[in-house]
Amino acid sequence: MNFKASPLAPGLYLVATPIGSARDITLRALDVLASADVIAAEDTRTARKLMEIHGVGLNGRPVVAFHDHSGDGAVKRLVADMTGGKSVAYVSEAGTPLIADPGYELGRAAAAAGVAVTTAPGPSAVIAALTVSGLPTDRFAFVGFLPSGKTQRETEIAALRDTPFTLVFYESPKRVHGLLLSLLNVLGDAREAVVCRELTKRFEEVSRGTLGQLAGDFEGRAVKGEIVVLVGRAGAEVVDDDAIARALREAMQTMRMKDAATTVAGAFGLPRRQVYQLALTLEKDT
Ligand code: SAM
Repeated sequence: MNFKASPLAPGLYLVATPIGSARDITLRALDVLASADVIAAEDTRTARKLMEIHGVGLNGRPVVAFHDHSGDGAVKRLVADMTGGKSVAYVSEAGTPLIADPGYELGRAAAAAGVAVTTAPGPSAVIAALTVSGLPTDRFAFVGFLPSGKTQRETEIAALRDTPFTLVFYESPKRVHGLLLSLLNVLGDAREAVVCRELTKRFEEVSRGTLGQLAGDFEGRAVKGEIVVLVGRAGAEVVDDDAIARALREAMQTMRMKDAATTVAGAFGLPRRQVYQLALTLEKDT
């Protein structure tokens, strides 16, 4: 056993849990789960099972259910526990609580009551997907689940059309094709996109392409598992190398190569290093 149970200061501990592979739990998450006076969980069975897998005993400590429909009474009871000196660890079903998961009302009420709110950070599908996507990670917007109705969904996508950030959506496997079609309808078929399925699990799959290609690939496919869809930022449509080369040649007439690469990379929404490499080749060829 690599974790330790020791008394915790009173407060709310938001504990991230694995999004697939049980071994992605952090040692500190286990410390907190082993030590908190009360465990509150979106799904008490999942929480008990996770603790059991890692050998964290309950030793008579309560595991109470807390989710979006628990209501004001449940928030008040947990906050009263904390103001009364108890430590409460909150886990959602998977990943980081509050990220497309319950915990917001509890965290807010705890903070408002002057209770210390802290985190045992760890897995979250948004970060896992972003890092493997190959899309720019410097600026991203987490959108989470869009409405299931096509019109409402497309209205929300339209509001994001010019956002110069990588966009991250959560979606159910049944609706992934519908989401890709809506994205294509509103954003056009040339935007780069990525579908991440079952991250950290046995059938992990990352599909990259344009919205047009991916909508085609997922048509009629019976998709299973958990899905994150990412879309490249506005202004980063797939452009052919000739267009970049032309822009570079023009920019290099008035700028140093490095500045020209930075300017053109910015204009096309491409990584600077990639454009700089092309500039080097162009200079060699002249
Ligand atoms: N709190 C979680 C987090 O931090 O990512 C998210 C909970 S939300 C109810 C569940 C959604 O997250 C799934 O429908 C899917 O979109 C995404 N997700 C969770 N686990 C995933 C995984 N292993 N691979 C891909 N997507 C995942």
